[in-house]
Amino acid sequence: MLGILGGGQLGRMFTVAAQTMGYRVTVLDPDPHAPAAAFAERHLCAPFDDAAALAELAQCAAVTTEFENVSADAMRFLAKHTTVSPSGDCVAIAQNRIEEKAWIRKAGLQTAPYQVVQSAADISQASAGFLPGILKTATLGYDGKGQIRVHSLAQLHEAFVAHGKVACVLEKMVDLRSEISVIVCRLGNEESHTFDPAENIHENGILAYSIVPARLPQTVLGQARQMAQQLADALDYVGVLAVELFVVGDEQTLVVNEIAPRPHNSGHHTLDACAADQFQQQVRIMCGLPPADTRLLAPACMANILGDVWPEQGGAPDWLPLMADTRAHLHQYGKQNARAGRKMGHFTVLADNADSAFAAAQALHRTL
Ligand code: ATP
Ligand code: MG
Ligand code: MG
Repeated sequence: MLGILGGGQLGRMFTVAAQTMGYRVTVLDPDPHAPAAAFAERHLCAPFDDAAALAELAQCAAVTTEFENVSADAMRFLAKHTTVSPSGDCVAIAQNRIEEKAWIRKAGLQTAPYQVVQSAADISQASAGFLPGILKTATLGYDGKGQIRVHSLAQLHEAFVAHGKVACVLEKMVDLRSEISVIVCRLGNEESHTFDPAENIHENGILAYSIVPARLPQTVLGQARQMAQQLADALDYVGVLAVELFVVGDEQTLVVNEIAPRPHNSGHHTLDACAADQFQQQVRIMCGLPPADTRLLAPACMANILGDVWPEQGGAPDWLPLMADTRAHLHQYGKQNARAGRKMGHFTVLADNADSAFAAAQALHRTL
């Protein structure tokens, strides 16, 4: 029996992969309708810090996580009883932008210029060097939430107050040419592979499309893979790690934006377009098996389906147009209530090249 903290769509796709490979899964998630629950052998419907539920998870042969804000202490507790990957320490680093950026630099990699803002006193004339910038809360932000764009010191002060004076990072706006992500599957030094970098297109701060292969020079893509690998090595990371990078300026330099200690939305195309997908890799690594072939078998584009596409229904999504289309590899997450910004599912289109995959995915998305 394998255990997972979190039963959202990532937990669901993990559970399906695990079962296909012959494992049974226990899911811990407080939501009675958690998407993973439909597939799991056991659903512990309890808070993530529930002692009895954690004691049960500790009985599993190995435990992993899909939930970004799971308590690192809960993972450290589990690690006393069973195999836990990724480690609580790595999860804690990914949960805090201040730690995260420090680690990225410690690994010898670049970030956007930034300043830590933990109190109003940290805002000084020197902060002007990071403007125009984005004030991001150190913890709990996702999908662009917890970010305020600032152009002046006055706006910076206001944004810090608006964030409730919690610890923040002021990041200089960089000249973004494109955004890519690299997913690393690492068991140890000798056993670590990366998937082909995905080119990510965001709409309203949320990932809309991932295109693979990314439409950038091979040298840039090779460097991105190498950087992601270097970061995973520095963290001595065990598991599936997503690394988001910015391609900056004409020289196409790469800076690391942030990491996610789990399979990632920008890796969903691997389910339909790669030799082994990112969830199979997560299962393999937590079981101590070497990561499998990450090869891309065909150019692909993944499109997210948000609840926004069914505004007037305010309820049951209409999947028929996508189900009827022969090109769309559709994945539904089993969520009943569509609402704006909520990830309801995704589909992947395969094509002869990245441009046509993207064009086809956009055209199909417009039919919704
Ligand atoms: P996620 O859902 O990926 O976890 P998040 O809320 O943690 O998102 P970031 O990834 O830090 O946020 O930023 C969201 C988006 O904002 C980025 O994908 C990028 O488009 C833009 N962005 C963030 N930082 C910068 C920057 N320094 N310069 C320019 N654009 C930026
Ligand atoms: Mg993030
Ligand atoms: Mg991000």
